[in-house]
Amino acid sequence: MFSSISLRQFGYLLLSLGCLVACKTSAPTTNVQSWPIKWDQERVQLSLDYMQEHYGMNPDYPIIDPQMIVVHWTAIPTLEASYNAFYDSRLPGSRATIGKASPLNVSVPYLIDQDGTIYQMMPDTLFARHVIGLNHCAIGIENVGDGNEHPLTEAQFNANVQLIRELVKKYDTRYVIGHHEYQQFIDHPLWKEKDVNYLTEKSDPGDDFMQRLRSQLSDLNLNPLPEKSAVQQGVAGQVRWYEGNLMPTITEGATDSPNRQGDPIQRTLRIYELTHRDEAVQKSQFFQAIQTKLVTEIATDSLGKFELSLPVGQYSLLVEEADGLFANQFDSEGNIAPFSVQADSITQINVRIDYRAVY
Ligand SMILES: [Zn+2]
Repeated sequence: MFSSISLRQFGYLLLSLGCLVACKTSAPTTNVQSWPIKWDQERVQLSLDYMQEHYGMNPDYPIIDPQMIVVHWTAIPTLEASYNAFYDSRLPGSRATIGKASPLNVSVPYLIDQDGTIYQMMPDTLFARHVIGLNHCAIGIENVGDGNEHPLTEAQFNANVQLIRELVKKYDTRYVIGHHEYQQFIDHPLWKEKDVNYLTEKSDPGDDFMQRLRSQLSDLNLNPLPEKSAVQQGVAGQVRWYEGNLMPTITEGATDSPNRQGDPIQRTLRIYELTHRDEAVQKSQFFQAIQTKLVTEIATDSLGKFELSLPVGQYSLLVEEADGLFANQFDSEGNIAPFSVQADSITQINVRIDYRAVY
């Protein structure tokens, strides 16, 4: 059927025709070739599901409000294979880790080849999955290549500079970040991911590339990255409230849809030295008269988020409720809500308060 070239020209023709009718803004000065990936009803629906599930957003159509640009590399050596990876609406089965979070395939509006040619795969303002927590406001740029055998080229660097200048001018985006820097936004107002455990470690496109980019773009007065968290070792996470009937239901068109994600809630948490059931008085899921040492107390923010420096060790985490200290997790030895802190790492914990929920 179509070779990749004729498919590209075909897509370009389609977008050009669409643009004659719909585009009021003047054509960009940078030479961008149109090479659309699939944007069908399935992609629309999966994008809407993603926005609702991960960000609590319910728009009529998956549109973003661009406030940052995120630069990537594809970790795929060729242009065609990179394009193919973004083409389908659904993730391929091989990407099991992120597939658990959503079946929506990854994508970005821009793909830059090693020779510096810029391809536009979808409009800037359509929802694309490429950076956890920030997809609702981030325009993505993918560069064909990786950090090893296929390093990003000078031509790619220059194309990024040119394209980013145009995007910043058009949308007044205040941040330009590398994918590997995204976790610095976890406590930023733009961060919307509801699942604190949904995080991946990224290395693209690396500090060197971003440093050069920032110095080339210094006249744009972009915002600096948010400060790195002060906590280097300890515990962090989010508290959520679950209530009502959370039993699986097969009722079609049920009006009572339980909130299976839970609602973020403000609470005070108590961290004790590792505490066994026998070292406290238990009444259903509530505890009192705890005999071990209280290490510290911390109040979460209004979204239930917390972050705390702790020495290496083993602890128990309980939540202050009106009826006592709540905990619903035990290890096989009977320790109450146990967690451990390892050297130089932050243990992530999702706290579920669910004593008013029925499963
Ligand atoms: Zn990336």
